[in-house]
Amino acid sequence: MQTHLAAQYQDTDEGRQAEAILRKCVHCGFCTATCPTYQLLGDELDGPRGRIYLIKQVLEGEQPTRKTQLHLDRCLTCRNCESTCPSGVQYGHLIDIGRKIVEEQVPRPASEKALRWALKEGLPSPLFSPAMKLGQAVRGLLPDSLKAKVPEARPAGAWPTGQHSRKVLMLGGCVQPAMAPNINAATARVLDACGIQTVIAPEAGCCGAVKFHLNDQAGGLAQMRRNIDAWWPWVEGAQVEAIVMNASGCGVTVKEYGHHLAGDPAYASRAQRISELTRDLSELLPDLVPLLKTRIKPEALQAAGLQAYHPPCTLQHGQQLKGGVEKHLSELGFQVSVAASEAHLCCGSAGTYSVLQPDISKTLRDRKLGHLNQGQPRTIISANIGCITHLQSGTAVPVRHWVEVLDQSVSA
Ligand code: SF4
Ligand code: SF4
Repeated sequence: MQTHLAAQYQDTDEGRQAEAILRKCVHCGFCTATCPTYQLLGDELDGPRGRIYLIKQVLEGEQPTRKTQLHLDRCLTCRNCESTCPSGVQYGHLIDIGRKIVEEQVPRPASEKALRWALKEGLPSPLFSPAMKLGQAVRGLLPDSLKAKVPEARPAGAWPTGQHSRKVLMLGGCVQPAMAPNINAATARVLDACGIQTVIAPEAGCCGAVKFHLNDQAGGLAQMRRNIDAWWPWVEGAQVEAIVMNASGCGVTVKEYGHHLAGDPAYASRAQRISELTRDLSELLPDLVPLLKTRIKPEALQAAGLQAYHPPCTLQHGQQLKGGVEKHLSELGFQVSVAASEAHLCCGSAGTYSVLQPDISKTLRDRKLGHLNQGQPRTIISANIGCITHLQSGTAVPVRHWVEVLDQSVSA
């Protein structure tokens, strides 16, 4: 696609980056067919090709409007379009740039501003955990809309105390320890059973995705730098073999620290190293499966029954990790199914999207649950806290992280 950037973007990093991405797009529209918002709304401007065109127009000097902003807001950033695109268009990076420049020119109403501010400051805040505990204590009294955002309290179980020479760092995360503390504990127990010690650096916190994707790029980058500082002593001294992520939404972000901080001479090379060391938990499974095979209890496998797996977009499209979870759980003897149709489509969670675009989000959730529940699974499993909480809000079938199911079968 030919581009003629407006003067104000020509000599900027974001202008150059956007231009390189735009030039790869041949406008074929293959991506449109797999875009969830296009499938629901049927408007070219609510599909990737239309959004790419809108961003191109703004970069060429056209004045964006509230309508431009709305079409960009409606994008789930699921990156399904990147999986489909035959030309390698990095849509995810382009939409980040597009949203930022539109935000600078199109003011939002006060109510929208307030909601977005509350999300970006509230979710990664230390106050989130006590607020979630309070919400869980009075969950039965909450209105349905709020109850859907507050998962039932479940105990985390014991953190393993074993010391091992093999160590991995793990990101504790911001909302996950408060909403589902068992996920981190289960991860540590499963790794411990395989002779690997899990270390959480207490100074590390939110991966930066929440702020970054709510157009507080500076705030998101500051959180990324803080995590790099927290992890660096472990990485520099080669004390850990990987930085493990058990929330694929955080994983995709940390794997892109190198990209986000490429222009910062003080952090660029360390950010790149951190990204290279980062692994989704499922990437460890080929190494863990032989060790776990002797630890799995057959009666626990029987009790687990059928698991319907929902692969998060941040795993299958963002990190391009496809098929690993279901393959390796099956090797361990679990009965795992993947939705026969639309397994590639977003469940509608998409970070803060379920709060900001509740109607589209709920429609996608119910459509996804319809597919997942077809085989009458005992549990729905996934790999990202956002998807897990969102799906759970629409079904009585328990929704868990796959490592929780694995942990139950190892520790039972
Ligand atoms: S599939 Fe790729 S090249 Fe084709 S319109 Fe979409 S982004 Fe552009
Ligand atoms: S990221 Fe997802 S919602 Fe956004 S344009 Fe691409 S496929 Fe559509």
